Amino acid sequence: MSDLFQPQGLIAYWRPAEGLRHGLEPDAPPQAGQERNTLCERSITIGSPNELDWLAPTCETCWAEACSRRDAAARRAR
Ligand SMILES: [Zn+2]
Repeated sequence: MSDLFQPQGLIAYWRPAEGLRHGLEPDAPPQAGQERNTLCERSITIGSPNELDWLAPTCETCWAEACSRRDAAARRAR
């Protein structure tokens, strides 16, 4: 599961929002104040997460999407 965070072949950026950690499209690093689309097709505004925010549970829809993208990338690499 740690390979979701490898810079080479980055699958998603993870940011807490609205009580869940969502995955963001990996096109650019998230900056505070940006509006970004999540892998679960929501639109969130990037905040400045504190330590408590990072303890939020991972959004299951984003996680499933990130896993399927990772698997697809692994299949392409073979
Ligand atoms: Zn999500």
